[in-house]
Amino acid sequence: MLMSGNVILALTEKLRRLRRRKQEIQDEAKRRVAEIDAEIQSVQKAIDTAEDAMKDIICPVCKGTGDIRVCDAAGSMEERMCGFCHGTGIKITED
Ligand SMILES: [Zn+2]
Repeated sequence: MLMSGNVILALTEKLRRLRRRKQEIQDEAKRRVAEIDAEIQSVQKAIDTAEDAMKDIICPVCKGTGDIRVCDAAGSMEERMCGFCHGTGIKITED
């Protein structure tokens, strides 16, 4: 009787330790996910800021690629140098 009581006590303690460990891992994961979320937000903000700053200098015809897709006489698509920015991808202002 004393023996089985000890076994159950030991197993109950083991159960308690496992549940605590599981909780610690879940808390740690939640913290790390929050850190990554904050970093994602910063990077997204940087992209938005860069896009905002770029939109006035990016060629509006080819969207900065320098190439445009055109349909040739045979009806198939091909890439050609953008004539508006002369393949630079940058909106060139004449002054
Ligand atoms: Zn262009």
